[in-house]
Amino acid sequence: MKYKRILVATDLMEGADNILKKATELARQMHAELHLIHVVEPLPGYGYAFIGSAEIEVELVKEAKSQLAKLGTKFDVDAKHRHVEIGPTKIEITRIADEIESDLIVVGSHGHSGFGALLGSTANAVVHNAKCDVLTVRLKEE
Ligand code: AMP
Repeated sequence: MKYKRILVATDLMEGADNILKKATELARQMHAELHLIHVVEPLPGYGYAFIGSAEIEVELVKEAKSQLAKLGTKFDVDAKHRHVEIGPTKIEITRIADEIESDLIVVGSHGHSGFGALLGSTANAVVHNAKCDVLTVRLKEE
């Protein structure tokens, strides 16, 4: 059994490279198409009296696109397969996974302990909401 379309969710923080190294190798072995997603969470409509929150969002999306492009170039992910979305992270990851008919989502997990937080909140939600398989890549604690 082989995966055909792998969606890697990245927060563009440290650890993103590690997740992508593993996902790229998996995609290579399985001849799967690799997709990348980064989600920009909408800003609350208050507290940004001087600059409109819509303008900040536009800047955040612009910056995310540029960072995702760098990551995509480094790991050879086709420009058409780089997704920047605005919305609740957990929902957007699974929405895009459905839309592109991904059969595997790859997320990082910090392995927090205590009070049932075995996976980070994003990883946990994706595991529970996804219709396809989810691979969690363990991120090292600094
Ligand atoms: P967290 O649960 O927030 O610690 O994040 C765990 C993993 O969820 C990260 O390693 C990413 O794979 C994914 N993730 C978190 N935030 C985002 C985001 N804004 N966009 C895409 N993926 C994310």
